Amino acid sequence: MESIFSLVKNPDSKPVFRLTPQRKAIMRALWDKGNKHLTVEDIHSALSKQGEKLGIATIYRNLITLEQLGIVNKLDLGGGRFRYELVSRPNSFHYHLVCQKCGEIMEVEDPICYQIIQSTAQNLCFQTNQVELTVTGYCKKCQEAI
Ligand SMILES: [Zn+2]
Ligand SMILES: [Zn+2]
Repeated sequence: MESIFSLVKNPDSKPVFRLTPQRKAIMRALWDKGNKHLTVEDIHSALSKQGEKLGIATIYRNLITLEQLGIVNKLDLGGGRFRYELVSRPNSFHYHLVCQKCGEIMEVEDPICYQIIQSTAQNLCFQTNQVELTVTGYCKKCQEAI
């Protein structure tokens, strides 16, 4: 957890933005679930259970700020809802396998895949700021159920 909060500090250990109790609560909710792909509604209900009374709009507003600061990733994994996860390490990369039947989301860490994307972009003189890759299909369990 400390490493996450250290992300929001500059080398002089001065906070680069105010780590308000609201932002801290949201980050904690994302951390508690093992950094896993929560919707705004998921965060809202997680916080409600902990007795934190933050409205959906407030959570959403803070997520935008956290995303701009590179602390939170906003993901479109289908299902008509954006999901959010903490950026665990700066410049780390994983992609998502999303089951279209049960909604299971698997994470795959693949530095080689990331390097290929980066070098392709570089060859096209394109400067990347976020790489997001989603693969849809059916998980093992759901294939067996068909
Ligand atoms: Zn499935
Ligand atoms: Zn993920």
